[in-house]
Amino acid sequence: MPSPETVAAVRAAITPAAMRGHVARISGIDPLVEGDPLKVRSRDAASPDNALVVSALARRLHDLGLTVRRHEFSWRGRRLSNVEAEFPVAAADSAVLITAHLDSTAARGEFFDSSGRPRPYDPALDPAPGADDDGSGTAAVLATAECLSAMIAEGRAPARTIRFVLFNAEEQGLVGSKAYARAAAAAGDRIVGVLQMDMIAGFQGGTPTMEIHTGSSVPGPVVGASDALGGLVAQAAPAVAADFSLQALAGSGDPAAGRSDHASFHERGWAAAAVCENFFDDTAPATGTRQYHMPGDTLLDEDHDTDYAAAIARTVAAAALTLAGL
Ligand SMILES: [Zn+2]
Repeated sequence: MPSPETVAAVRAAITPAAMRGHVARISGIDPLVEGDPLKVRSRDAASPDNALVVSALARRLHDLGLTVRRHEFSWRGRRLSNVEAEFPVAAADSAVLITAHLDSTAARGEFFDSSGRPRPYDPALDPAPGADDDGSGTAAVLATAECLSAMIAEGRAPARTIRFVLFNAEEQGLVGSKAYARAAAAAGDRIVGVLQMDMIAGFQGGTPTMEIHTGSSVPGPVVGASDALGGLVAQAAPAVAADFSLQALAGSGDPAAGRSDHASFHERGWAAAAVCENFFDDTAPATGTRQYHMPGDTLLDEDHDTDYAAAIARTVAAAALTLAGL
């Protein structure tokens, strides 16, 4: 269970206003960088704005006092980067990863040429704001980093290394996280758990529901370890998201198995969970976004709810920081 001090820190740092500010900057509502008028059109891996967002996110995390590293990989002849920001703890037994994906897509949108005929999505040029997918998860990672930074400034000290990682090219087949997990395994990294947030702002109304996905087709100890990690998230929820209904989706039948970056860590045998809005569970009408992979996935969309997103972000942050010994 999260300590009262951690709950207080999480509540102070991970607010709807903080979430809204981060999403606004990376999804084209506000300028990406203060003092520069450029607004992000798309974070698609094929968009020229993708690299600008990588730089802005790296700078923001660096300014929080974290050790930032760009993890580069190749995709279709391009060099893309994941962004990693670490608070290292000497002699720690392992690291806790708090993650999301920074890229976007609008591949389900309808687009028309100059004579009004339907044409395919152009990933280099068309708008793909991805405010929910996964601007919301990216904002949550940034807000959690701000929370940690404030806790460190107050003299708190984690027992485990904490890493914030923003993956690129998730929408292209988990490309960035697969490259990251492969490199982490080759480097002999010890990772106690990966908490991925992917789409946490879509809420049409009704009972707020949080889905906790730990399912995987990968057999072995990773199954129980991932389920236990999901249990930590569920345990943290009452303190910071009291009105939420929780849905734990586990096993190989989990509809999100293999569908977000947590899967890249399952493949390497590491415990991982993905937390999201009510989107993948088909036992009841979904309350998540109706703008999935469309140009209408904006901060101003009626399904985008920053109060809801902040509550999920607080839950995951509380679980992650507790796992890190705070
Ligand atoms: Zn996503």
